[in-house]
This record gives sequence, structure tokens and C-alpha cells, in this order.
Amino acid sequence: MTSLTDLGVARIRDGVRDGAFAAREVAEAFIAAIEQARALNAFTVETPEHALAAADAADAARGSGDLKPLSGVPLGIKDLFATKGVQTTAGSRILADFRPTYESTVSGNLLAAGAGMLGKLNMDEFAMGSSNETSAWGPVLSPWRRSDGGNVPLTPGGSSGGSASAVAARLAPGVTGTDTGGSIRQPAAFTGITGIKPTYGRCSRWGMVAFASSLDQAGPMARNVRDCAIMLQAMAGFDPKDSTSLDLPVPDWEAAVSSDVRGKRIGIPKEYRIDGVPAEIDRVWEHGIALLRDAGAEIVEVSLPHTKYALPTYYIIAPAEASSNLARYDGVRYGRRVQPEQAKGPGALTDMYEATRAAGFGAEVKRRIMIGTYVLSAGFYDAYFNQAQKVRALIARDFDRAWESCDLLLTPTAPSAAFALGEKSADPIAMYLNDVFAVPASLAGLPAISVPAGLDDQGLPLGLQLVGRALDEQGVLNAALALEERVGFTARPEAWW
Ligand code: GLN
Repeated sequence: MTSLTDLGVARIRDGVRDGAFAAREVAEAFIAAIEQARALNAFTVETPEHALAAADAADAARGSGDLKPLSGVPLGIKDLFATKGVQTTAGSRILADFRPTYESTVSGNLLAAGAGMLGKLNMDEFAMGSSNETSAWGPVLSPWRRSDGGNVPLTPGGSSGGSASAVAARLAPGVTGTDTGGSIRQPAAFTGITGIKPTYGRCSRWGMVAFASSLDQAGPMARNVRDCAIMLQAMAGFDPKDSTSLDLPVPDWEAAVSSDVRGKRIGIPKEYRIDGVPAEIDRVWEHGIALLRDAGAEIVEVSLPHTKYALPTYYIIAPAEASSNLARYDGVRYGRRVQPEQAKGPGALTDMYEATRAAGFGAEVKRRIMIGTYVLSAGFYDAYFNQAQKVRALIARDFDRAWESCDLLLTPTAPSAAFALGEKSADPIAMYLNDVFAVPASLAGLPAISVPAGLDDQGLPLGLQLVGRALDEQGVLNAALALEERVGFTARPEAWW
């Protein structure tokens, strides 16, 4: 018998509607699974009472025929989203005691659609990282293990590491993630799940703790493409409280999702074939190409000539924006304050700022603030920040030109499978290299999804990425569904936690 925690978003929604089970049973099953999986450190706070209240409301609504699109579906919320009355830390000590008095638009949209909240999900501090190791609350463990029997603890990826682990370990049918330079897609790839970053502006950033505002986008992570479509539909929409929110209707992505890709032109960017990437990544990529060709798509080689500048461009722009956004944590308005004892006189305020920020931020966040303030400084602004903005425009133009000969791009999501905790944490550049395939679509604001596409020699999941034109989430979802159906990925981690 399938247990309730094996069900995804669509099956829970439909089962509750059809009376196959009660929403309360579903919520209780996930709450129990979360309690048993604390070793994974996926949640920063559990909110069973919230999930149960929403479940009871769903069961009552069923009786009165008032069901909403996500009635009965309990979800996990990344700790970057402000949740009213519920601790919101963004993975940082500086926000340890922060209980927002408001709800972020995206989490509010999900709750308004009838979803319940199982808890807040652990993440890299301020979403800066690719392994969840920069969290002030300790790393999240991946439920996956290498097949060599060594039992080395692996990263679920980052920054949405708690989100990814929770879905892969069946602690939630779906979760929110955020993606600034790959933080939905890379953890999805590492844990054998599906995650989509929509077009920049589809989801409101209001109430989402800011990292790099011109790049940050919310998106869903779930078991499959359909579940992502359902969740994204509930999350997206125009929000007058976010000046970069797109004032466009939200399409019915679920209704139109189809694996028919006949006649679609799938571009394979030649610059994504980079040295040093393991042969298994290439093998999975070739397999994905063959599957889409068999499905009737036309495969074309394309060129994105500025790809090699994407990573350095991202690692100038993201820290620059972060240094500005994080200036708000000054120990005055909200969050933690550290008051040095001897601080008196004219320098006292500065002493307080310094003590607060020194104690409140972790090493990676401090590194980004220093890089960001450096590239924005009067002497270096033109050489770094301004130059990076120009290169960003060239990278976006590469995609515009590619769309003349193709409709979608297919690439690997990440250059490796999940790595071990500690393997890259001492070397920031090695860590940043993880984002090589993810950041170009972020810089161009394009929709991109990661779908599980196979296993490596150690039995670990590998993902493929599909990138589409701005606003073509439907095209991305449809090609992803074609891959999902043809890959037939059924592997799941064996429970050891
Ligand atoms: N790994 C990237 C970084 O550290 C991307 C993070 C993200 O998308 N939030 O900046």
C-alpha cells in the first residue's frame, strides 16, 4: 500500500476532494514523518498546529463544497519567506528572534489557496551558498547516500537545501524555494526532485528576505512537473507591493501541461560543454537529448558566446546587491543587537553596528558584503560593477539570439552530483563553480526547471535543466514533462534517518 506521504500535491488535492482520505490524516502523516527525520535538520521550526488547522478547514470545506485549489495540501516554506507570527530567520543568527507581523505575498498566496504550513525550511544564510553549509542552524543532510557503503554525509545542495531534503525524504509533498543563481534548480538536481524558477517578476518578492533583488525569484520544488505547475499557479501573480512584479494574468499551467513536444526546437548550447565535467553528466545530457528527439523535438546546436563570463558577472552583481540589501541589519530597526559594554561617546553607535554585524553574520555573508562594497566603491565601480552590468546585457542578448533558432535550451543543471559535506566549504571558488550552468538564466531573468534525469555511478541523482523564453513557463513545463515521462525516474533514497 502506498502511504500518504508518498503522494504528491495533485494526488493529495484530488484524494481530499474525492473523499479517499481526510486532509487531517495527510497532515498527521507528514507531521509524523518530520518528527522521525529530525536528523536531516531540514526544518528550522515545525508548525504542526498550522498544518492541522488548515487540514481541518479543508475537511470542513469538503463538506460544504468550498474546496480551494490547494485545500488539504500541507507544504514546507523556505525560511526566507516572512510568515506572520512564525520565526523567520533566513538562516541567519542576526534574525534569530524575528517573528514578522506580516505574511509574504507568496506564502500568503499558498495559504489563501488552502494549503497548510508544516514548518519553515533550513537554508544557507540569506540564501548565499550551494550546499546549505552556511546556515547558522547547521547543514541540512541529504537523504541520499553513495552506494559505496561509505555513508559519507552528503549535501542536498543549496541554498534551498532544507526544501530539497524535505521533498526527497517525503516530509512534504511540495515546498517553496527561492532561486537567485540556481538555489531551486541545483538542490532539486542533487536530490532527485523537480524545481522551477519562473520568469523574473512572476512571483512577488514582497516579504521574501532580500539577497540580490534583481535576481531573486520564488518557485516551487516538488516530486514532479505537474505538482510544480499547480504550486506555481498558486504562488504567482501581480502584486502592487513589489515594483518589479509583472502585471500579467497567471496562466492555467496545469490545464495546459502536455508532454507533446513535436516540432519544438531544443537548443544545445555548445559553450555548456566544459572541461572537467564528469563523463556521467555528459552521458545523462546525451540521453536527455535522445529522449526529446524520440519525442519528436528537433535538436539544434546553438551558441551562447558570453557563457564563460556569467559566473564572474553573477559573483559581482549578487554581492553588490546583497551588500546594499544587508545594510538594513544594523541592530536598530529589528533583528539582533549586540551592545558592547564599554561603548560610550561619539563612537558608540558605530561600535554597536560593528559588534552586531560581527556577531550576527556568518563568514560567507561577510565575504559577500566585503566583495559587494568593494565592487561598488568609488574607485572600482566602473571597473567591476558597471562592467558586470554591461556583460549581463550581453548574456541576455545571447539568449535573445538563440531564440531565433530554438524554443528551449537543454543543459545539465549542475556540473556534478551531490558532494560531501565539508568537501568544498573551505574553497569559495570551488563552491561558486557549482552554479556555472544555473546563473546565465538567472542573469537573463528566464524561466528554468530542473528535472531528475538519471543516476551517477554512485547511485546519486543527476538533473537536466530546461530554459525557456521569458514568460514561456508553459513551454518549459511541457518539455520537462516529456523528459519526466520518458526518463521514468523512480529512484528514491532508502530511509536511514
Ligand atoms: N549558489 C549561489 C550563491 O551562492 C546561488 C544562491 C541562490 O540562488 N540563492 O549565490
